[in-house]
Amino acid sequence: MTKPYVFIGFDTEDPINPEADDVLLRLAQTYSKAGIPACFFMVGEKARLLRSRGRKDVLSALRDHEIEYHGNYWFEYPEPALVYGNRDPWDQAVQKGRAIETPGLQDVAEITGQFPVATCQHQNNHSPATTHAMQQSGVKVWNGGLGAKLDGIGWVMNLFTVGRHSRTVSSQGSWGSFQFDPDQPNRRPPKMDPKAELANFQQRFDAQLETGTTHINILGHPTCWAMAEWWGWYDWSAAFRHASLDGAPGPYPQGRQWDRGVTRTRADIDAHFEWTAAAARWLARRKDINVTTFADALAEHADPPGAWLTDSQIRSVARQILKRLDHTRVGKTTLSAADALYVLAQHVRFMLAEHRRPEHTQIRRTIGPVEEVYTPSKEIRFKRQNLLVASRHLVEYANASGRLPHTLRLHGIDCGPGELLVALAQMVAAEKLPDFVTVQPTVGVPLCVSMDCFSKATAGSSHATPGYTPTQIHLQGRLQSWSYRPAVKK
Ligand SMILES: [Zn+2]
Repeated sequence: MTKPYVFIGFDTEDPINPEADDVLLRLAQTYSKAGIPACFFMVGEKARLLRSRGRKDVLSALRDHEIEYHGNYWFEYPEPALVYGNRDPWDQAVQKGRAIETPGLQDVAEITGQFPVATCQHQNNHSPATTHAMQQSGVKVWNGGLGAKLDGIGWVMNLFTVGRHSRTVSSQGSWGSFQFDPDQPNRRPPKMDPKAELANFQQRFDAQLETGTTHINILGHPTCWAMAEWWGWYDWSAAFRHASLDGAPGPYPQGRQWDRGVTRTRADIDAHFEWTAAAARWLARRKDINVTTFADALAEHADPPGAWLTDSQIRSVARQILKRLDHTRVGKTTLSAADALYVLAQHVRFMLAEHRRPEHTQIRRTIGPVEEVYTPSKEIRFKRQNLLVASRHLVEYANASGRLPHTLRLHGIDCGPGELLVALAQMVAAEKLPDFVTVQPTVGVPLCVSMDCFSKATAGSSHATPGYTPTQIHLQGRLQSWSYRPAVKK
């Protein structure tokens, strides 16, 4: 039994209150002292603020830990991902994602001296197009998800996905009940009880561990160690409609003050740090967990690039697909249904080009379709020529656009990627290339679509307009079941 991973994550995002920078420094030092790594999900805006405030001390202390990415902005989005990703056509949305997020990613890399290994969207303000843009920009790990729980650890859209949903234990303890009262302007939250907080944390952690989980995210926001209330609380929930944005939430109305928040008392802050340090030592001592970074977890699962499959491995993929239209296992790796379609098509395309069977076919990872897939109404009889031409189309399409097509027209035969996958599997599994293969309509997605992560794919955030419905994001998230494969530990 492998030990569950424990990631100590901090969404590092308050660019308003300087007190939040001081506790960020203290948190980094606390985990350094305990000898365990923490993972700081840095907002671009926050990293730039640390630079402008001259916080070399904070940035140096963070070098002991792993830096991740938490979006370029927190409030001041040119446009939130869940808005453009729900409205724009895929390529346009991916471009927008790159235009907004790549500069932030580069800023975080330069300011902290570490290129972010992992990303996580704030709340569920995401879209599959934005996630794809992050992957194209060099991020390898996704500590977020498509808006619902992922079973275990797996690959989704070519990102090593270590989900957050229902796998978090808060490191903030009982923080969060204080409300500012103008009639009592000097009131502060009472001092935390470090003993009770630690016991409560340990109990919550053990309860999560007992579920037999692959990993636990211990999650906190550094600002909460300094501030009594959520920063920006009085300025952040008023998305308003701007005519030019077609109903999308636009910039905030003039009049936003960025009021400084209420700070916790010194004694209260110290009490929180007291049990944070005790919890860190407790975690560091445990032999039944693996407190680690996303880079190390990735290294234990990543496949060497450019792996080849033999002819018999390709046939094994084809036979597995015929039994079960889903991800497959081959050699020491797994193939998503999308990867399988690509390698089978590449294999058959080689036959068309070279007039012989290939001895090796290289794996190419690709993502699923992004538009509603075409589903034929009755069985399809493919001629061999249809499948030869389809293979070439499929390979060229995936090479050019990095994803599967949602529909194909093959000399008068229309099909979706599901029917093509089954047809190619029949063709490749046969000893001799058949003249015809007959395929029943598929449901258009692999069986793993039943996982919550895909069937309940959604988006949502305090940045969305009232009544926001993530129709396109749900569709595209559901279709990424094509890109799913379980992670295999080396
Ligand atoms: Zn966040």
